[in-house]
Amino acid sequence: MPSDMSDNLFSKTNRDIARTYWIIVGVVVGFLTVLNIVDRILVRSRLKAAANNNPHPTRVKNRIGQIWATATALVREAALPSVRSFTNKSTLLAMFTPLPLGRSVVVFIYMAMVAIMLSINVYTSGYWYYEKIAYRAAWVSVTQIPFVLLISGRLSLFTLLTNIPSERINWLHRWVGRVILISVLVHMALFWRGWDLSDFLQTELEIMPMVRYGFGGFGVLGWITFTSIAPVRWFTYELFYLNHLASVGALLWCLYMHVPQSAIYNVWLGIAFIAFDRLLRAILFLYSNIHTSQTSTSKSNYSLHFGHTAEINILDRKENLTRVVIKDVKMKWRAGQHIYLSIPSLRPFESHPFSISNTYEAPPPPGKEHKELGNPVAAHNGSRDLHLLISSRAGFSKQLHRKCGPADNAPVLLKAFIEGPYGSPPAWNTFETVVLIATSTGVTFTLPVLEEIASNPACVRRVHFHWTVRHVSDLKLLTKRLAKLGNKARSKGVDVLVNIAVTCGTMKTAKDGKFVVGSGDGDSFGAAGSVVSKGSEYLLLKTMDKDGVDEITPVNGDPVASCCAGKKETPAPPPKAGPCCAEPSEPQAPTPSQPAQIHTRTISTSSSGSSSSDDEAAPCCCAAATGNSCCETVCTCGFSSDDIEFSCGRPSISKMIIPPIEMAEGETVVACCANRRLMDDVRNYVGRVCDERAVHKGSGAQGVLCWTEGFY
Ligand SMILES: Cc1cc2nc3c(=O)[nH]c(=O)nc-3n(C[C@H](O)[C@H](O)[C@H](O)COP(=O)(O)OP(=O)(O)OC[C@H]3O[C@@H](n4cnc5c(N)ncnc54)[C@H](O)[C@@H]3O)c2cc1C
Repeated sequence: MPSDMSDNLFSKTNRDIARTYWIIVGVVVGFLTVLNIVDRILVRSRLKAAANNNPHPTRVKNRIGQIWATATALVREAALPSVRSFTNKSTLLAMFTPLPLGRSVVVFIYMAMVAIMLSINVYTSGYWYYEKIAYRAAWVSVTQIPFVLLISGRLSLFTLLTNIPSERINWLHRWVGRVILISVLVHMALFWRGWDLSDFLQTELEIMPMVRYGFGGFGVLGWITFTSIAPVRWFTYELFYLNHLASVGALLWCLYMHVPQSAIYNVWLGIAFIAFDRLLRAILFLYSNIHTSQTSTSKSNYSLHFGHTAEINILDRKENLTRVVIKDVKMKWRAGQHIYLSIPSLRPFESHPFSISNTYEAPPPPGKEHKELGNPVAAHNGSRDLHLLISSRAGFSKQLHRKCGPADNAPVLLKAFIEGPYGSPPAWNTFETVVLIATSTGVTFTLPVLEEIASNPACVRRVHFHWTVRHVSDLKLLTKRLAKLGNKARSKGVDVLVNIAVTCGTMKTAKDGKFVVGSGDGDSFGAAGSVVSKGSEYLLLKTMDKDGVDEITPVNGDPVASCCAGKKETPAPPPKAGPCCAEPSEPQAPTPSQPAQIHTRTISTSSSGSSSSDDEAAPCCCAAATGNSCCETVCTCGFSSDDIEFSCGRPSISKMIIPPIEMAEGETVVACCANRRLMDDVRNYVGRVCDERAVHKGSGAQGVLCWTEGFY
């Protein structure tokens, strides 16, 4: 038990300060809870309005609604601006990119609050001068401990009340930890100085065990802070995680031994917050993984299972993409949520977050199971399959990919455990316009959103779906599904534009008459190892096969002399009207000034303004090679070019965002799942556009929510 030394000294003011801190925290959490409730009410009222065939269910209806919308618009605009990430990679440099403006302001306010707590009504002279300030710093430090733990768990009380998931509040968790380290430093340094002045330091260390625990606690806190910096987390996440858990345990023990009785409640409160989160997670884990299955036709014959069968196969060997299908899942989820996946036979103690790449479908009403699903047992249990699309990194995901064996691509079956779903994405079908932007595997986030909207559009009138991929070969994976979803949504009255941009950069004819796709603008072409386009804004062309090129076999087999979007290439003609494979055109070289973007989609099914872009006048390789590169995918996948619009080169942010926002007659959501820099650009762009258009400030322009999701 800790000593109560100096507990009675100066503690009245300190306790008041601690109380005030918790009142402020309570007010803020309460306010966020109210926002959460209001948000749910808004969602319901929009869905109700949509069900009543209101033509603009997302538009503000009254004065209070207008005030709310204006306040929301102001907060969103202030929160969005951010310094563009210094790098897209998970390197030391990325760590120095400042937080977006909104988060920076929150951190600044928190720091100012702690500085005031440290200094208000504090003695600055007198016999106990150093001790008094040091003791204040001790109170300020220990008071923050429960708060930093409150905002740390996946199912914390904070998350349950506010609906802000842990991955969206982690930044604050880290910054509060850093602030605690500073206030502990103040506490320790001033006690040290006071004892040193009175020549008491050695004696303190010898006779007061609590002081030794205090030093221990400071050491542990410093260790936690150091091992939590981004590069360490990225280096080896599992080590970071285990170390973090063990260190927090050690810290709480040191605090328990160090702090006086009057402050010990902070330690217990912290433990209670952790226990709350862990208990709920354990319950969720058991609920998600224990399931029954019918063993015979008799209704009473059920067997109990722990864990799920995961069907794993390689989706794309070149892009190192693995698909995991978790069978017979009984949980519900929403598009944009993720689960934690663990496969003990691969890595026993690891679980990794992955976005769910398909949508939840409610079981059909009783009696219709057999007809609709052809699987009465699954329908009866309310179970269904959950899909994940995983791109290989260095650890678990790579092992998963390798597990799939060399060539035959027969699915591998493994036992898997899942936990979730986590994440609080917006209710996508309560916006009038939905703009979805994804690069590469970010499509696992945006595709289910389109799927959810296609199933139940509710308020949605327009969807613009943009997917940027590196290689044409990537398109084969999901284009068919995309086309189907686009058509399904169109059949329900939604105006859908699906644009797939291939950052193929330059294209040339290889010796054997095949097209080859090199890296981007102005780079040395085709050389093995010429990996990333130097002029590349988004570093999308990161990996290439061993020859440094990607091969595309022309559908008609015609060799094409030169085809390309690159500056070094020769001009190409505009795309022909009609289905893309119908009339493969002889390509001509583009002029050097032509931008690397164009559409092969010939009949727009959308009223998108993108058709009026400059790019239309500047066809590039895919257009030139209609019957060849993009078209190959169109033909093999069996959908028409009316369904999907193809373009070459990186699409410009303004062309993705401005047309739908300008057409919107209700609220828009712009969701982006991409690399760091593209997400920063999208955030900044949306913020700027909202400001320029004076959204909800009397101009008539409707609100825009910007939602970004990163996989790092
Ligand atoms: C909310 C969310 C959704 C995601 N969805 C997808 C998806 O749909 N498809 C996909 O391919 N990837 C997704 N990711 C990324 C995926 O979780 C990591 O790529 C994966 O965990 C890497 O594991 P690894 O051991 O193979 O890689 P490593 O090479 O060991 O790590 C690569 C990166 O992943 C991070 N990481 C590793 N383990 C974890 C973990 N347990 N929790 C959080 N981060 C970790 C590391 O810090 C590092 O930055 C998502 C990440 C998050 C946070």
